[in-house]
Amino acid sequence: MKQNRCHYCRKLFQSATERSVCDTCSAIDDILFGRIEAYLKKYPNSNALQISEGLDIPIVSVIRYMDEGRLMVAKGRFERLNR
Ligand SMILES: [Zn+2]
Repeated sequence: MKQNRCHYCRKLFQSATERSVCDTCSAIDDILFGRIEAYLKKYPNSNALQISEGLDIPIVSVIRYMDEGRLMVAKGRFERLNR
């Protein structure tokens, strides 16, 4: 068993594989992921910062999806953004 800490509620929980979201929060997680997917369909070349701002979600959440391999977003291009 693995000891994990939930990304959303910070609760410690155990699971057979490494996970970053507990069962209670996985529904939130799926909804959030669905919104990001929809955003990327509209704006395919977005990076994490643009997604975060466009959807008003924390950038750490976007980066976590990328780290988990669920999202294929242009990575490491933050410094090239003109703001
Ligand atoms: Zn949780």
